[in-house]
Amino acid sequence: MSLRIVVTVKYVPDATGDRHFADDLTVDRDDVDGLLSELDEYAVEQALQIAEDADDAEVTVLTVGPEDAKDALRKALSMGADKAIHVEDDDLHGTDAIGTSLVLAKAIEKAGFDLVVSGMASTDGTMGVVPALVAERLGVPQVTLLSEVSVEDGTVKGRRDGDAASEQLEAQLPALVSVTDQSGEARYPSFKGIMAAKKKPVESWDLSDLDIEAEEVGLEGAFTKVETAAARPARTAGTIVKDEGEGGKQLAEFLASQKFI
Ligand SMILES: Cc1cc2nc3c(=O)[nH]c(=O)nc-3n(C[C@H](O)[C@H](O)[C@H](O)COP(=O)(O)OP(=O)(O)OC[C@H]3O[C@@H](n4cnc5c(N)ncnc54)[C@H](O)[C@@H]3O)c2cc1C
Repeated sequence: MSLRIVVTVKYVPDATGDRHFADDLTVDRDDVDGLLSELDEYAVEQALQIAEDADDAEVTVLTVGPEDAKDALRKALSMGADKAIHVEDDDLHGTDAIGTSLVLAKAIEKAGFDLVVSGMASTDGTMGVVPALVAERLGVPQVTLLSEVSVEDGTVKGRRDGDAASEQLEAQLPALVSVTDQSGEARYPSFKGIMAAKKKPVESWDLSDLDIEAEEVGLEGAFTKVETAAARPARTAGTIVKDEGEGGKQLAEFLASQKFI
């Protein structure tokens, strides 16, 4: 039977762009270009490699995001994924990580899966919690932060590198893994891949397709609330220490005054 791999990919605001908060203190996504989170490119790459090593496998990429999030799906399809699912609904506005994990888990269940592959964190929220939340909701083992991953005989195996030691981990499928930016360079989409992606299926689901009530997500369902937000003050010129024999002392005094030492 075909190995069904679902990769969670997030569409994030371009970090090089100017980002703002909207009036309700959510990120103003209309005003800034977005792209596939760079850390999720590693997840797509590992999923494609697992699929290439399997006799029969299908890679589905899944995103929860606004209309433009289709761009992230197209990029993943042009890298080689087989099909895509886009969950979009006006009621998702303001959804936090817990709500996002609910939507992802319901969509993954509906799609059917043997293995879920996620990134280690998004490049905007950077909480790194969604994969664990999704695995918990799906009731499957989670093997997170892997630098190396493979699937053999219904078992997913991988290596997690810590500061002092590396661990070899494995779990029976169905399972969820998240992969780090050390797992291997993500491939660039080829011209052929870009052309092929245009014809690959992209399904669109909303909350009713997933039996999720509006109150469970959005600002109303969020467990966190942004009370205030302020733009970061503009950078001021730094302190210049002119060394006339006392430079080291002045430097130490400055660091002490800033509580660095
Ligand atoms: C329209 C919309 C409005 C939102 N508004 C808010 C808001 O106001 N406040 C708020 O806290 N959050 C909001 N969110 C959710 C937020 O953007 C994050 O997706 C969520 O909080 C997860 O946190 P993170 O990005 O730190 O994920 P992490 O835990 O860092 O992500 C780890 C991995 O989980 C997967 N993943 C995470 N998010 C998604 C996703 N959306 N789709 C597919 N895969 C994903 C990726 O594989 C990623 O690499 C909104 C989301 C949407 C779609």
